[in-house]
Amino acid sequence: MCSGRVDLEFVLRAFSNGMDGVFIGGCRLNECNYITHGNYHALTMVLLCRKIMEHIGLNPERLRIEFMSSAEGTVFAELMSEFGNKVSKLGPLGKAEGIDQNELKSKLAEITKLVPYIKLVKNEKLASRLENPEEYDKFFTKDEIDKLFSEVVSYYIDPEKCQACMTCAKRCPVEAIISAKNQIHVIDQEKCIKCGTCLEVCPPKFRAVMEIAGAPVPPPIPEEKRTIVRKSKKLNHRQSF
Ligand code: SF4
Ligand code: SF4
Repeated sequence: MCSGRVDLEFVLRAFSNGMDGVFIGGCRLNECNYITHGNYHALTMVLLCRKIMEHIGLNPERLRIEFMSSAEGTVFAELMSEFGNKVSKLGPLGKAEGIDQNELKSKLAEITKLVPYIKLVKNEKLASRLENPEEYDKFFTKDEIDKLFSEVVSYYIDPEKCQACMTCAKRCPVEAIISAKNQIHVIDQEKCIKCGTCLEVCPPKFRAVMEIAGAPVPPPIPEEKRTIVRKSKKLNHRQSF
């Protein structure tokens, strides 16, 4: 119903599925029926996505957003026809840009996995209302996007500090924490969406969750070494088997 509902992930999925172009049609800016003004969200999402496309070597012109009213059928038809011709001229996705199909698929999959993280980091800018079209192209810069991907954070549970209180596992929104009673907790990096909740909720007296930026995450502690043996209520002592 609303262009604001078009998530960055939807656009990436369309390209991953081999679409050569994506067109998003929204209501005219400042004519939204709701206080949310979702079309501004769609606009900032598109501006971000275009820069991401450039970052991975895709032509950003393959993604377009236009705003019009439901009474402007002719405008819609003209824009679609113009965009269709443009995409035809650009040629097949990836091939025209000289990117190998498998490489493109893996790049798109990598970015798609980072969508929740990207939205979290760029949350404030994504909520902006850009009134002046001259701002559009410079709103997200190349350097900013390069930095976004070179400094991606990861979360890691320090096995020396984890006390298996299970708080992080209960709060993780995607069940990415391997958790069991009296077992050192471990983050499944494949499932983790980098929301940072575990870092926030790990009790200050343990501070077991670490944020690692732009560097590899240490390997998880082997399963057979995860058991914590508590000797008394007051004093915890860990033994590894
Ligand atoms: S960063 Fe978020 S998704 Fe990842 S393990 Fe922590 S709570 Fe779960
Ligand atoms: S909240 Fe902290 S101490 Fe508790 S299980 Fe998670 S990482 Fe371990």
